[in-house]
Amino acid sequence: MKKYTRIGIILFICMIFLFPPGGTVLKAAFFSYQPGQPNKTVEKVCNKDSVAENQEKNSQTEQKGTENSQSQVAEAAQQNPESAQIKNQKSYMVEDKILYSGNTQKNRVALTFDDGPSDYMDKVLDILKENDVKATFFLIGSHVEKYPETIKRITEEGHEIGNHSWSHRNFSKLTADEIKQELDKTAEIIVSAGGEVSNLFRPPYGSSSEESEAVIYAHGYNIVNWSVDSKDWSGISVNRILSNVQSRLAPGSIILMHSSGRKKAMTNMLSALPKVIALVREQGYEFATVSETLELQNAEDLENRMAQQ
Ligand SMILES: [Zn+2]
Repeated sequence: MKKYTRIGIILFICMIFLFPPGGTVLKAAFFSYQPGQPNKTVEKVCNKDSVAENQEKNSQTEQKGTENSQSQVAEAAQQNPESAQIKNQKSYMVEDKILYSGNTQKNRVALTFDDGPSDYMDKVLDILKENDVKATFFLIGSHVEKYPETIKRITEEGHEIGNHSWSHRNFSKLTADEIKQELDKTAEIIVSAGGEVSNLFRPPYGSSSEESEAVIYAHGYNIVNWSVDSKDWSGISVNRILSNVQSRLAPGSIILMHSSGRKKAMTNMLSALPKVIALVREQGYEFATVSETLELQNAEDLENRMAQQ
């Protein structure tokens, strides 16, 4: 008799364990596991521009805290004619192909900085000013709100601003509507902060699909990647940054650097920057903005293209 009671109790405990009243956690743990399923966080793209992985996390956190002010900015953009201003600034002809470097017949190269603004931007701008270099900054919309003064300074000091998305997501995985929103929100906030934004776009991670590219072009943007990767985001030494630039430098080069990232990477980037500038000049090149290097033409048909969407 005792034996059956014990078996009964054990069975009862097992039932409670497997099917707790109202509990789904254990059931989920036991029955939902499917071996071989990829983990979505591992699936995340991690390539050339991977400094942005940190940025992505940062911007996601930042975004939560700034939703109110974002919608205020969006409202403000609707109320005043800033949207029209943005449209006017999308003035380069869309090339319908990914642009990696400019005119190879001219000894001009473009220095580009991704992922700003950040706390390091003023130092970058100081170095550029001291060396009389005009650069192109591909800015992340969700970072712009925190640094309105920097945006004004970039514009006042004659640099070019490109769009690097709102939240630094992988564009090859976004819907057409999400892509347009990422582009528009970023352009609007740059203009709201007193900046001038061009219709140059660099996709986060340099990643895009044929479908996303078609949406980006139809929305009035050129896609600008790079031909020289300094790999400064990775925290490599100043000498490695310099040799990465030197080994690929050619007429029309578009050089990729970063103005936001981990502290070690940014410290090395700031030490390397004056040396990169000196190296480029020693090799007989002049600096120009991306649109100058690419010799992008102002577009008369851009308005029509935008209207057709
Ligand atoms: Zn980036």
